[in-house]
Amino acid sequence: MNGEKRALVVDDNDVNRMLAGRLLNKAGWVVDMAEDGAQALDWLEGNRVDLVLLDISMPGLSGEDVCRTVRARQLCQGAKVVAYTAHAMPEEREQFLACGFDAILTKPISKAGMLDLLNTLGLGS
Ligand SMILES: [Mg+2]
Repeated sequence: MNGEKRALVVDDNDVNRMLAGRLLNKAGWVVDMAEDGAQALDWLEGNRVDLVLLDISMPGLSGEDVCRTVRARQLCQGAKVVAYTAHAMPEEREQFLACGFDAILTKPISKAGMLDLLNTLGLGS
């Protein structure tokens, strides 16, 4: 990866969005944020990104809807798209991976969990 690492955090909850953004900032990432799926898709149409953290439960488009659209439109090619959710029952994990997510990050997130995820995806420093 050359240059700065860029992430988009998509979550309808302000506190969750800020927390994820702060953890990524501390890990050296440049972070943009979106409050819903429509805003996220608009942003992804015009910007390069290496990582998308997508909340699953959002009003309007769900994280799964957004992920399917990202893959269908071939947006942010090469970027890792992560489902970021409190629900991660085994059958839900399968469903998320089937939508095109690269990984699942379980809320509540922590610094250690975030760094683990980045390393697993080959995006660690
Ligand atoms: Mg939500």
